[in-house]
Amino acid sequence: MSGKVVLTGQVHLGGRALFAPLRLVLAPGQWTALLGPSGVGKSTLLRLIAGLPIGGTFAGQVENRLPVALMAQDAGLLPWLTVRQNAGLGARLRGGQIDAARLEDILQSCGLADHAGAYPATLSGGQRQRVALARTLMEDRPLVLLDEPFSALDARMRLAMQDLAARLLKGRTVLMVTHDPAEAARLADHIVLLDETGLTELPAPQTPAPRAVLDRGVLDCQAALLVRLVA
Ligand code: ADP
Ligand code: MG
Repeated sequence: MSGKVVLTGQVHLGGRALFAPLRLVLAPGQWTALLGPSGVGKSTLLRLIAGLPIGGTFAGQVENRLPVALMAQDAGLLPWLTVRQNAGLGARLRGGQIDAARLEDILQSCGLADHAGAYPATLSGGQRQRVALARTLMEDRPLVLLDEPFSALDARMRLAMQDLAARLLKGRTVLMVTHDPAEAARLADHIVLLDETGLTELPAPQTPAPRAVLDRGVLDCQAALLVRLVA
């Protein structure tokens, strides 16, 4: 198993610090949920870990860079490719062989089998988000960064996609941004809150994920997070 990923440092934007200096540790093979108000820098942290450029300057370092799959907040689908081609884009861009059986399996699991030949413009927001998820799940990477991956999904589909992601990403190091306390409580092994003062670690249920929605520990965690988020 690959070691922990550690980001230390601070981001400045227009001469102003986005948040206090922080240290974010991603435990190997575990799922970390990152919560916090809009605009505080969550997506920026994901981009830093992915080694992508950010709006602003970063003073700090990322230790232990791993091959990464990033599901960005914007689905980022290519409009001239079909659902199936978008979902298989990673291998295609690398000029590698697409695992066709896995692709069909993931499209099926994401409820996209009937739309595999459709173009993004004809899809709903939720369907587009599921294509982006399918593309991320197709990538076989030890580090997976998910930026509000289920935010556009209805409640039933959201639970199904959470279960699917938990199953397919088991054993990988995952960092997921979410605004949904229930999602963090069912999926995460570690929960961190980002605000201007930096990162705060909050307790997560210690039972195996994905946890049942009505699990006592999930409901308690969800309530505690909600209290914290609206404080
Ligand atoms: P979050 O994901 O927590 O909502 P972001 O990381 O997207 O926040 O953004 C943090 C701050 O950086 C915001 O104030 C946003 O306006 C700013 N920002 C993000 N991307 C850019 C960019 N490319 N250029 C300039 N400012 C940016
Ligand atoms: Mg964001």
